Order: sequence, then C-alpha cells, then structure tokens
Amino acid sequence: MRKNIIAGNWKMNKNLSEAIQLVSDLKTELDGKTLNAEVIVAPPFTSLETVNSLIKDSAIKLSAQNMHSADSGAYTGEVSVEMLKSVGCSYVILGHSERRTIFGESDEFINEKVIHAFKNGVTPILCCGESLEERENGTTFSVVEKQLKAVLKNLTNNQIEKIVIAYEPIWAIGTGKTATPEQAQEVHAFIRKLLAEISTPEVAENVTLQYGGSVKPENAKELLSQKDIDGALVGGACLKADSFRDIILSV
Ligand code: PEP
Repeated sequence: MRKNIIAGNWKMNKNLSEAIQLVSDLKTELDGKTLNAEVIVAPPFTSLETVNSLIKDSAIKLSAQNMHSADSGAYTGEVSVEMLKSVGCSYVILGHSERRTIFGESDEFINEKVIHAFKNGVTPILCCGESLEERENGTTFSVVEKQLKAVLKNLTNNQIEKIVIAYEPIWAIGTGKTATPEQAQEVHAFIRKLLAEISTPEVAENVTLQYGGSVKPENAKELLSQKDIDGALVGGACLKADSFRDIILSV
C-alpha cells in the first residue's frame, strides 16, 4: 500500500516569526483531525530548526527545499544533507522546476543529489514536469521520461520504492492554471508505467506520486481522487494554514 503525502513548499516566503506563526496555526488547524495523508512542511533553511522544535509533538514531518550533493567544503551559500539532518529534516525537495530554470540545475546534478540524499537516509521529493511549450508540442511524455530516466539513474529498486515523485507541469506552477484531473492522471499513469520498466511493477505500485501546480482547496479533492495521484506538492495554498488544512483533509 502506498502512502498519501501532502507537502507544503513555502519557497522563499516567511521570516522566522512568520514561520512560527504559520506552523503553530497549522498544528491548531489539524488538532484532533483524522489524517489520511502524511503531512510535510518545507520552510526556508532559516526556519528549519525552529519549525522542527514546534512539530516534534505532532504528526507533521520536515523537509528542506534543496541541498548540495557534496558532504562539505567550499560551496558558498550551499547546505549539506548532514546539516539538514541535524535540524530534523527527513525529506528534501530536489529538482524543483524553479531550481532547474532559475538556477540552471541539470538532471545529472539532481541525480547526484538524489543518490546522496538516500545515502544519508533523507527521502527525496523529486520534481519533474514539462513547460507550456513542451505540452503544446506534444512532448510531455518524452520530456518527463527523459527527466526521470536521468535523475533516477543508478538507484536501487529499494530506493525507487521509497522516493516521492512530484509531477509538476511548469505551466501550472504559481499560475493559477491547474492541470485537469484527467491530464494529471494521464501523466501519473505514464510515470508509474515508466517506473515499472525501470524497476519492477511491484516497486512502481508502491511509489507515492504527487501532483503539483496550483493545487487549492477547490480543486484538491478531484485531483487527489485520481487512481495514480497519491498526494500533492502545494506552493501558494500552503502559506495559509486553513487552506493547507482543507487540502490535507481532502484526502
Ligand atoms: C510548487 O512550487 O511546487 C507549486 C506547486 O506551487 P503552486 O502550488 O503555487 O503552483
């Protein structure tokens, strides 16, 4: 049985006091509720340690938004997996389209990070997805296939089974345009089939596949009811505790 996971990517939002407020509000909103999904928050690096201390007594898990693939060294401005572990991260978002497009991260670099995260016991939430141009060209499947084959290179079946994959069409991120449930399901089914080829059908059945791209309380239920959609990676709508709660409770 695969896990449902709802993760909130705070991106470069919330200073320390705002982060304390948001996570405290989220805990209050979820208090006493039956959760059918694991809940993850991914605040900026500056708030990880504090948020970790606030969620220790709750079911909420902690993720970072990025990391470097090296253990340590002369990488000004970067953060290592060991540092993330030391402040309580059990997940790390890797290969987000903003990292790929704004900061030029390649599939090869993302693959190094994925391998390094697993080696150190941190689970990657690995993002993939096509641009608007690629969707309109009809190359969505080949783009996603190329990305996934490259970033999953040299992973064991055991690692593939544990990874979380977030399909995030770039044209739907932060734009208010959501993929229709059918469009999202079609790509998720394709990803699961691809995972079965890369590993085994049994492994593929156990991989959590999230959809990301303008998920909101109003569209979450329909998206999350699709057969191969096991959760969501949420940007904008996770910055308010009540809207993130409504998405979490749609599972
Ligand atoms: C994201 O950043 O991963 C994301 C899906 O953002 P939004 O929900 O704002 O589109």
